[in-house]
Amino acid sequence: MQVLFPQTCSQLQAMLAEIPQGRIMAGGSDLLVKLRQTGRTLPAVFCLEQLSELQQIGWQQNEFYIGAAVTQQQLLDHAVIQTQYNVLYQALNELASPPIRHAATLVGNLCSASPAADSVPPLVVLEANVDIEGPDGLRNLPVDRFFLGPGQNCLQTGEFVRAVRLPHPPQGLVSSYHKVGKRKALAIAVASLAAAYRLTDGGEVAMIRLAWGSVGPTVIRSSEVEEFICGKPLTQDVLRQAGVLARQAVSPIDDIRASADYRRSLTGNLLLRLLPDAVAGEE
Ligand SMILES: Cc1cc2nc3c(=O)[nH]c(=O)nc-3n(C[C@H](O)[C@H](O)[C@H](O)COP(=O)(O)OP(=O)(O)OC[C@H]3O[C@@H](n4cnc5c(N)ncnc54)[C@H](O)[C@@H]3O)c2cc1C
Repeated sequence: MQVLFPQTCSQLQAMLAEIPQGRIMAGGSDLLVKLRQTGRTLPAVFCLEQLSELQQIGWQQNEFYIGAAVTQQQLLDHAVIQTQYNVLYQALNELASPPIRHAATLVGNLCSASPAADSVPPLVVLEANVDIEGPDGLRNLPVDRFFLGPGQNCLQTGEFVRAVRLPHPPQGLVSSYHKVGKRKALAIAVASLAAAYRLTDGGEVAMIRLAWGSVGPTVIRSSEVEEFICGKPLTQDVLRQAGVLARQAVSPIDDIRASADYRRSLTGNLLLRLLPDAVAGEE
């Protein structure tokens, strides 16, 4: 297997064109594990670590720009992520372990397209956009349109993700991430919930976006649940009723981590974590 180190995005494009069966490697924490598990070999991997164009991070106009080679630890260390994108900060803080987060990237987590990927529900409720570069130039799309199914993203041959862009959070946005795994650390999500909302001065929900992970083939949103909560205060009663609707909206499966029934029940119960005085582990 050739291990290649493109220095520019044009070089990466040329390599993808020349060796279409090759694969991009960012942190390698998904790719290398899968190669080892399946015994599959590749003609080449294209490592992003020397590609400075993909290491950019910071405000560009009114959006927060995250290049594809930026690691999860770099994001956790960034004041903007800590103070303005709490839901993403919390999710990255619960993803794998510190050694993995020092190598793994946000974009690698996105491209793996796992229904359990921790960063995806936060990116959906933050309404992130994905920049994709390919032989026909640059295109971009909302993150929720990036996934086709478990492990499947919409990248075409020769394309790669260049960056993720987060819109500036509106004034008063509250956001949080809630994950249930089989243990407290280094656990893949059995179910997860990302929430972003704003309250009126009177304490009713003015706007809410919710996204569940690990309870369907890709991340799940439900307009029924969001519309039901809008205009109401975040009380236990409202969230319990919303939970009934949420359980109908998801399509979980049985796997080694949990049964479909348990995941469905968690889907609703996780909403109770939005209560201002929610106690972790209530579900
Ligand atoms: C012990 C362990 C624990 C883990 N725990 C968690 C967890 O709690 N939560 C979780 O969500 N994940 C977890 N993972 C999975 C993995 O660490 C994450 O998905 C990680 O974010 C992947 O990022 P990476 O940069 O290492 O991706 P890589 O392994 O480098 O790449 C992943 C996939 O994305 C493709 N890719 C990467 N960058 C690009 C790009 N710019 N354009 C196009 N394609 C690209 C690669 O070709 C590959 O198919 C865990 C993994 C391990 C080994």
